[in-house]
Amino acid sequence: MTAETIAFIDLAAQRRRLGPRLDAAIARVLDHGQFIMGPEVAALERRLADYAGVGRAVACSSGTDALLLTLMAWEVGPGDAVFVPALTFASTAEAAALLGAVPVFCDVTAETRTLDPESLATAIRSAQAVGLAPRAVVAVDLHGRPADYPAIRAVAQTHGMKVLADAAQSFGASLGGRRVGGLADAAATSFFPAKPLGCYGDGGAVLTDDVDLAERIDSLRQHGKGGNKYDNVRIGVNGRLDTLQAAILLEKLTIFDDELAARQRIAARYDDLLAGLATLPAAVADGFSAWALYAVELDDRDRIAARLGEQGIPTGVHYPVPLHRQPAYRDFPTAPGGAPAAETLARRLLSLPMHPYLTPQTQARVADALRRAVGG
Ligand SMILES: *Cc1c(COP(=O)(O)O)cnc(C)c1O
Repeated sequence: MTAETIAFIDLAAQRRRLGPRLDAAIARVLDHGQFIMGPEVAALERRLADYAGVGRAVACSSGTDALLLTLMAWEVGPGDAVFVPALTFASTAEAAALLGAVPVFCDVTAETRTLDPESLATAIRSAQAVGLAPRAVVAVDLHGRPADYPAIRAVAQTHGMKVLADAAQSFGASLGGRRVGGLADAAATSFFPAKPLGCYGDGGAVLTDDVDLAERIDSLRQHGKGGNKYDNVRIGVNGRLDTLQAAILLEKLTIFDDELAARQRIAARYDDLLAGLATLPAAVADGFSAWALYAVELDDRDRIAARLGEQGIPTGVHYPVPLHRQPAYRDFPTAPGGAPAAETLARRLLSLPMHPYLTPQTQARVADALRRAVGG
């Protein structure tokens, strides 16, 4: 008997579960034909805002564009410093750099793997010392875990800065009784297929309680439109979400709470199975992760990943090179003292298979393989 292949993220299981409802939702859009800004887009925005417990959601073409549109709406530009953690995907810093602002890389804390408020405070002082205006912080909810927003907001507030949550991996997560979306001035989420709430292509949204901000982003995603699309009141982009993707997301939202609960159970099971084998993700005090990824720390990560691969266990590394070490970003400033925790984590983190349809048997196989690989 050959062991079944293990999926890193099993989108086919979700597809089977949604079955004909998904086909019907797609067929409805093909029939009504309003492919751009059709009724499903507004319906999705209402649902997303309600789910996140915020006043407004503005759907857009990707998580990257959600970050970009928000910084555009805040008129971030040349001379401005935008503070980002060093351990993240390129989009987090890309948006600021594209607008001519300077991304300033901060360290993360070894325990939370998210933006370190102390590194942020020192980075702000050093940016000011070279004449940059501190304008915004983009905190990242890495692997689905909400960043330390109370501490980050406190630092940001003393400098009159905005806080944007890069919530690409954390839709559904919660901190202090508030969902992601209501933890910062705005949150940018992604519907890339592998994210906790994924569509079948690219998509994203900005979540916020700031109605003016939502209105500006709505205009910016449609070429800076005013009263109608041939009235251009600002310079924008083509950043809309397709109606088809909105229809797909509306169906996926009907099972999202159930999937989120499954992710919690699966993460807890990994915690039990893997105790003592690796450094496990730290618990979130007063909240929970959306568990986009379950990443452990290992001394000998690359060797162990290769051993797991030989045994049919897919893994990933998020992220192997911290952003301030990437060719496109290494000339931007880093917080005084650099980002040593981000560098250590980039060497040690290994993401294990994680999705709501992972069975206890498969998790046991992953744990057994990891135990053998760690053993020698
Ligand atoms: C996926 C991701 C993004 C970008 O989202 P897209 O929808 O692919 O543009 C941004 N930031 C982080 C942390 C991500 O994981």
